[in-house]
Amino acid sequence: MSGSGSVGTASERREALKKVLAQARGCVRCSDLAASRKTVVFGAGNADADLMFVGEAPGASEDEQGLPFVGRAGKLLDQLLGEIGLERRQVFVANTLKCRPPGNRDPLPVEIDNCREYLLRQVELIEPAVICSLGNFSTKLLRGDPTGITRLHGQPEVITIGTRAVRLYPIYHPAAALYTPRMLDTLREDFQRLPELLALGPPEQPPSEAIPEPIEDLHPPDAESPPEQDIEAPEPDQLGLF
Ligand code: URA
Repeated sequence: MSGSGSVGTASERREALKKVLAQARGCVRCSDLAASRKTVVFGAGNADADLMFVGEAPGASEDEQGLPFVGRAGKLLDQLLGEIGLERRQVFVANTLKCRPPGNRDPLPVEIDNCREYLLRQVELIEPAVICSLGNFSTKLLRGDPTGITRLHGQPEVITIGTRAVRLYPIYHPAAALYTPRMLDTLREDFQRLPELLALGPPEQPPSEAIPEPIEDLHPPDAESPPEQDIEAPEPDQLGLF
């Protein structure tokens, strides 16, 4: 949605997002993750979505396919979206980390910090009205506060991320809910409130600014470039990618 405070038309923002994707694909800020990853899982979906999800980090299937939430947690996410009349291609799904931590270990603070700028640029360029943070890592990052998901789930709040004000809506991570029926019930209840939150539209925006400068290229010119990735778009109009 391109409302007040927009940094450009949908097509300008999409083109800018493609540049951020290209930078992320060559990113070596976390040298270990850059060496062990198969793909950079930038995110996928509608580049002009009203609703964005932010998970934790790619797992093995995501790393293989270069797309977020393609495993069991992703199937649950699709099911919950379907229950509120939405499809994956209408939303944008990203992660706190764009590269898979080996063995699916938790993201390290330094990795979250290194990757943070990509997520901020995604939010600034997609301009979602609502961001669902899935679980602890994305919730803590986006709120800049260590309060956990158990205390915060299901409680929307307006926050500013980069240049963009959004309605943040923390909910449990679908992967956690897969194994805990009570958590799944809570996740489903929280999901059911998403349509009313989306109906509010974007919150009032801070004074508009020009499209931010591209992320500084931290890839040293003489460093070996990671191999090009060939990520198929799941749908022609999807930014997933591209
Ligand atoms: N869990 C996540 O947090 N992200 C994915 O992409 C897949 C599983």
